Amino acid sequence: MAGQQQIVHRCAKCGACTPVCPVYQSTARESHTARGKLHLFKRGGSFDSAYFNDLLSKCIQCGACDDVCPRNLNPSADIRAWRGQQPFGRDPHAFVKFLSRKVLASPLLQEGGSHTLRALFASLPQASGLRKRLDLLVPGLTARPPLPPSKKKSGSKPLSYFPGCLAQHLYTNIKAATALLANNCGYELYSPASLTCCGLASHASGNMKEARAAARRNIAAFGAGTPGAGTPGVTTPGVTTPADPDGPILTSCASCTSHLMSYPALFTDDPEMHKKALAFARRIQEFSTFFLGREGLTSSHPQETLFYHDPCHLRFGPCQVIKEPRQLLTEMNGCPPLPLPPHCCGQGGLCHLTNPDISKDIFTRAQHPLAELSTATVVTTCSGCLLQWQQGLAKAPHTAEHLAVFLAKISEDC
Ligand code: SF4
Ligand code: SF4
Repeated sequence: MAGQQQIVHRCAKCGACTPVCPVYQSTARESHTARGKLHLFKRGGSFDSAYFNDLLSKCIQCGACDDVCPRNLNPSADIRAWRGQQPFGRDPHAFVKFLSRKVLASPLLQEGGSHTLRALFASLPQASGLRKRLDLLVPGLTARPPLPPSKKKSGSKPLSYFPGCLAQHLYTNIKAATALLANNCGYELYSPASLTCCGLASHASGNMKEARAAARRNIAAFGAGTPGAGTPGVTTPGVTTPADPDGPILTSCASCTSHLMSYPALFTDDPEMHKKALAFARRIQEFSTFFLGREGLTSSHPQETLFYHDPCHLRFGPCQVIKEPRQLLTEMNGCPPLPLPPHCCGQGGLCHLTNPDISKDIFTRAQHPLAELSTATVVTTCSGCLLQWQQGLAKAPHTAEHLAVFLAKISEDC
């Protein structure tokens, strides 16, 4: 709290964080910017005020304000810290935040939930209104065309892989496509069975206890040990993955990547865990930087009207990856993706759950360049952005895909 007070006093009110804030771009309310929130807190914003409590939910946690601040302040971290101090009964979004954190913290709940939704979806008649609603809300339930066969080589090298919750339980084709591309490049993916959510949802809601617990569990899951037997795709509890315990950990979700790389910041008061988190963060290998320039990736189905959406978690924060996904697309698709101005998609920081209207408006701005086109494909490397794009484009003639799925599809017949 003392640190936060220092930061609110260090804010020069220069306003550099105002035009870059996607929430401000949507609402034009100064109080929704980082500067507005810091100013209100400095002037005694109180958790007794319903307005102040609701204001804290109006942040995507995109990190754009941190990126431009000439005083090197991190307003997004302050907003998270204030969220963490909100009394449960005063937070108008407490229940939805609590529920999403609990579901994300439990692989069993996620697996059970996605299984139930899939079974319900499959049992509904094609013309059912509920089926259409479910398809709009959870686009990952729709059966996907099969991926081309893998060109697995003998003597593949084992490689650790962190799929993230959405690829593990909902968008399982992202996991399958990543495995296929890795196979084609001579790798076999392994994911420890004890993995859990990266902890980003807990972190965004300011619940550092839960965020640290998730980080500890994931660091231990990929921890050093004697390499032993394992099943590709997943290893059984107690059996160490045959992948190098100090080697790279491939990730296919931009938000997970950024958060896994931020683990050291969760343990600044715990030297031993901080050291482990630093070693873990150095092992994280973002999807496009891993595959760029690898032998074994070829394609035969170039697609012309193709856009790449930059996830905020790759534009700002510890993992700044802008050029690589475009270079990888150019390499594989034979032509660079069409320019799509960098813009938050509106999904993040739990804002899409607590403020769906703002989230939707931000998305409308992001997809504006597609408005006049008859058909287009948008690819991205974040599972959360993908969910937002697929929901947002559900009634449009366009499609959205994860980069891994798109590359796996165009690698067919090579
Ligand atoms: S950019 Fe930094 S110093 Fe300027 S108003 Fe925003 S938080 Fe304050
Ligand atoms: S993190 Fe993003 S949404 Fe939140 S205040 Fe900063 S710029 Fe605005």
